[in-house]
Amino acid sequence: MPGSARHVLISGASVAGPTAAYWLDRHGFDVTVVERMPLARVRTSGHAVDLFGPAMDVAEWTGVLPAVIDARTRTEVVSFQRRGGRELAIPMSHLVAGISGRHVEIMRGELASILYEATRERVHYVFEDSIRSIHEEPDGVDVRFEHSAADRFDLVIGADGLHSIVRRLVFGPEEKFRRFLGGYLAFVAMPNHLGLQGRMVVWNAPGRVAAIYPVHGTTSARGGFLFRRDDELQLDHRDVDGQKRALHQIYGRDGWEVPRMLAEMDAAEDFYFDSISQVVMDRWTTGRVALVGDAGYSPGPAVGGGTSVAVVGAYVLAQELARAHGDDEAGLRAYEDGVRELAVKARAIGPAIMSTLIPRTTIAVRVLPELIRLVARMPPTVQRRLFQLQATPARALDSISLTRPNPV
Ligand SMILES: Cc1cc2nc3c(=O)[nH]c(=O)nc-3n(C[C@H](O)[C@H](O)[C@H](O)COP(=O)(O)OP(=O)(O)OC[C@H]3O[C@@H](n4cnc5c(N)ncnc54)[C@H](O)[C@@H]3O)c2cc1C
Repeated sequence: MPGSARHVLISGASVAGPTAAYWLDRHGFDVTVVERMPLARVRTSGHAVDLFGPAMDVAEWTGVLPAVIDARTRTEVVSFQRRGGRELAIPMSHLVAGISGRHVEIMRGELASILYEATRERVHYVFEDSIRSIHEEPDGVDVRFEHSAADRFDLVIGADGLHSIVRRLVFGPEEKFRRFLGGYLAFVAMPNHLGLQGRMVVWNAPGRVAAIYPVHGTTSARGGFLFRRDDELQLDHRDVDGQKRALHQIYGRDGWEVPRMLAEMDAAEDFYFDSISQVVMDRWTTGRVALVGDAGYSPGPAVGGGTSVAVVGAYVLAQELARAHGDDEAGLRAYEDGVRELAVKARAIGPAIMSTLIPRTTIAVRVLPELIRLVARMPPTVQRRLFQLQATPARALDSISLTRPNPV
């Protein structure tokens, strides 16, 4: 009934989930968020993510932009290791100028934490639980949980990432929708033993990259591994020991800081490993269920602007549900139409970025930093044109025009 508070369940409290929760609450919905991880891990896990253009607008309208800017990583320089121990340093602002004029880099956990704080008083959060089953009835959705009591909701939203449980239960197995882009990504929390300040250091070999950057305001750093694989590793995404073994096999003979990174990884609890995969679906809603962010249209971790796409998608979802004045199914269809172009265009970014980010040959390893330096020195307009010719990150993110919310 229009005007009455409808009960919405969101699965996932990272980026897309709390953003959708904020706006749905503001539009009068009664929101519950269920998150598999403990709150402490939500706040700290993960690596640096980017908010570009329209996602910055959403952060501003959500009222969190000052906190986001305050928590930014402050990585100002990227230094590429070259033969003979020399480094080639490129200002970060040059690297992102070709993607968007408005940009902030922030740790995923910081962003999730800020969004949680912005919503915690009005949204009901349940941590360390997960949906077990979803049954749609004509007048609602019956949900059973691993731990909490079963409940009925008017809408269920899957904001639960690449391995979404909502997608699996309602749309089908992950294999149907996941497109492997030919690589893997891992991050590990480690001490900042290089004493880095505002500087990320990057090491390359054919087919693989390693990098270390400091976490601002702490004594910690993040070590990152990015490598190519033509075929998928036969590993479950929860098999942490198997993932660590795979990294030892692939990087075990490498020099630079890699041996220390592997040793830190063996002891680390905060470890992220996933395939660089996209989620490719024709539809992100069915009946009273919707997918948002990586769950519905991940453009690929680290390579596709996924955090920005997730923020924008969550905003559009809530806005279209509000505009539909109680006709939720019409609202969900409008959401789908509203994000389609962005979701489809964002798919082009990952494969193109993968091909430049992880050089295949020894020559490409040597040439890459020079090439990046050359492009980074060009004016932003020329950079944007080059990027657009290649893969359209700028066009993908700019393909959506968001309507400002009405003042409350
Ligand atoms: C711990 C963590 C570390 C990450 N590290 C990196 C990284 O190093 N590099 C990178 O490129 N991307 C990383 N990502 C992904 C990145 O955050 C997303 O691509 C992007 O921010 C889009 O956000 P999202 O909210 O759509 O999805 P995500 O950020 O993936 O969030 C999904 C949320 O759903 C939760 N969830 C998953 N399954 C369930 C379930 N069954 N029940 C309840 N909740 C569930 C997850 O715990 C998570 O909080 C990480 C994500 C997480 C959760």
